[in-house]
Amino acid sequence: MNSRTAWAKAELEELVRAGRLVPIRTLETHQGAWVSIGGKKLLNMCSNNYLGLANHPEVRKAASEAIEEFGMGAGAVRSIAGTNSIHERLERELASFKHFESSLVYQGGLLANLGSIPVLVGKEDVVLSEELNHASIIDGVRLSSAKRIVYKHLDMEDLRKQLMEHRKEGRKALIVTDGVFSMDGDIAPLPEITKLGEEFNAMVYVDDAHGEGVLGDHGRGIVDHFKLAGKVDIEMGTFSKALGGMGGFVASDSDLIALMKQRARPFLFSSALNPGDTAAIVKSLEIMRRDDSLLRKLWDNSKRLKEGLSSAGYDLGRSKTPITPVMVGDERKVLELSQSLYAESNVFASPIVFPTVAKGTARIRLMPSAVHSVEDIDYAIESFTKQGKKLGILA
Ligand SMILES: *Cc1c(COP(=O)(O)O)cnc(C)c1O
Repeated sequence: MNSRTAWAKAELEELVRAGRLVPIRTLETHQGAWVSIGGKKLLNMCSNNYLGLANHPEVRKAASEAIEEFGMGAGAVRSIAGTNSIHERLERELASFKHFESSLVYQGGLLANLGSIPVLVGKEDVVLSEELNHASIIDGVRLSSAKRIVYKHLDMEDLRKQLMEHRKEGRKALIVTDGVFSMDGDIAPLPEITKLGEEFNAMVYVDDAHGEGVLGDHGRGIVDHFKLAGKVDIEMGTFSKALGGMGGFVASDSDLIALMKQRARPFLFSSALNPGDTAAIVKSLEIMRRDDSLLRKLWDNSKRLKEGLSSAGYDLGRSKTPITPVMVGDERKVLELSQSLYAESNVFASPIVFPTVAKGTARIRLMPSAVHSVEDIDYAIESFTKQGKKLGILA
């Protein structure tokens, strides 16, 4: 540290004072039901590895085989020499799985939003953005320079009102929303949104990061869940959650995808996704298509977890998906609960507090998955019941 960067220490101290310094836990094992942190075995209730594909033997094998065949790095940006046949294979299979004409693979979900939104709208245009949208959407909209109008969470009356007021301002209009909201587990009313999109001639863009592998036939995602193929203009997603790997994508019609290949900055100015990562996702899709037993296990575990926690007396908010927010409210109480679960019950379940969620709505977000056994789920319920009673959160 020198005098020119001393401000960083002051800012860190401010975060500590405000109780907002996020501790980073280091896992010493793969993303299993149980993980090791600091040599201690803990039940992992925090991962987005919904289907267990992050450590699936066939997925690992596909990645290593692709590294043997194509090497480690992609070598260049997609538009120069980085496009490999394995990228195109993934793009074809993804489009077919998602029932879209075409798709484009990015190096991450965040990059998919940062890259795609500015291709769709510019400074003469208007974006209607849902209040609880993910940070990567917010940043993508900022990068586009389009006018941003925020509509209230799940509120179709408000979306209509904002469209009536602001649609005329833009040459083009885009409605953008998360499909499944990551902190609450509730679902965007996509059928109503697409109707409003038609009525006001606005494109509809959905971020399906938490719907992929979770909703729809064989985990095809939210567009399939609502049977809206052809009505949603752009579906964006990530490979880093249920699909178990790394990368992101958008699916749309072929002209839009072709234009993105000319204009999206992460495609033009950042090197392509590695062959191993790409091949892993081809395999994940193959597994999902072939067999939906992982999907069924995910939902069975979610149902068991929610029933158990509800009957213990916990408020689980408004979740409609496996995302299970245990609503505590008070920030200090939620930190205490997470800490006792960690120290006394060996349960790894992170607290979520302001500014990630609104003040007074602090919670622990549980992520059940297909890798958890029934015993694991019951252990989580037991531990939450025990610690909740001890701390006076449960009667
Ligand atoms: C996780 C997430 C992303 C980012 O995906 P990465 O592939 O991890 O970069 C984007 N949008 C939403 C809604 C997410 O939950």
